[in-house]
Amino acid sequence: MMNIGLLAVDSNYPNIALMKISAWHKLQGDNVEWYNPFTHYDKVYMAKVFSFTEDYIQYITNTDCVEKGGTGYDIGKNLPEVIDRMQPDYSMYPSIDQKTAYGFLTRGCPNRCKWCIVPRKEGKIQPYMDVEEIAINGRNNLILMDNNVLASDYGLEQIEKIVRMKLRVDFNQALDARLVTDDIAKLLAKVKWIKRIRFGCDTPGQIAECERATSLIDKYGYKGEYFFYCILLEDFKESFNRVNHWRNKGRRFLPHAQPYRDLDNPRQIIPQWQKDVAGWADKKWIFRTCEFKDFEPRKGFKCKEYL
Ligand code: SF4
Repeated sequence: MMNIGLLAVDSNYPNIALMKISAWHKLQGDNVEWYNPFTHYDKVYMAKVFSFTEDYIQYITNTDCVEKGGTGYDIGKNLPEVIDRMQPDYSMYPSIDQKTAYGFLTRGCPNRCKWCIVPRKEGKIQPYMDVEEIAINGRNNLILMDNNVLASDYGLEQIEKIVRMKLRVDFNQALDARLVTDDIAKLLAKVKWIKRIRFGCDTPGQIAECERATSLIDKYGYKGEYFFYCILLEDFKESFNRVNHWRNKGRRFLPHAQPYRDLDNPRQIIPQWQKDVAGWADKKWIFRTCEFKDFEPRKGFKCKEYL
């Protein structure tokens, strides 16, 4: 029996890879726990999600072997197939409720947006899992992390299955509005969404596509919320207008501003205007009550100076 330590270096968000590693080791009869510096381990798995976060600073000596993984260490490294096929060991995260499951139906994306790591990391889109493999043991609320599920016929079939099985879902990495046809809008309106439908709104052209997609879905009876991931690129005016566009649409439409992260440049400095746009848009109560020009992120500085 081995003693296994798991260490999530930079994120408290449930880490599916670590949960699968845990499941696989427990199947071998090993003991698995969150890493602590006072126990001796046969193996410690370290997972790092982001390249721009701090690494674990202490040198780890209380283990015979360390295995590092995750995009923050190496974008080319994947779990071995036998581990990847495991069901996540949800018991590692007591905060995940008994009705929630995490997973992917597809991996990859056919597009190549210049700010995005997915095509480099996962390649072209391909089927990955069946929704029945994810919705296990009565876990009927699914957090699905597909990057572009609508770009895959298999993905669309899976969404039909989700409707038939009456599962609740959140595609938390967003859908691509350009791919929403009339038929797809009808299908999406039938899905039981956890809280909201998310779209990417990363370019000026995507505003019109998001408008088109959301009104089609509304036409088929959807009454819930929409959420728009808006990447902040070089151009303040363009980025700001794209985020601000959704402010006039009312309560059902909520943008989320994300400063661009250059994964090849760990020393990248996020411009102050991007921090301020995100600080304004990403706090719902500020965004709803205050125009950007009146937002005062620091004493004596109002954002109207940017405009
Ligand atoms: S469509 Fe989305 S997942 Fe695909 S490359 Fe662009 S940003 Fe990345």
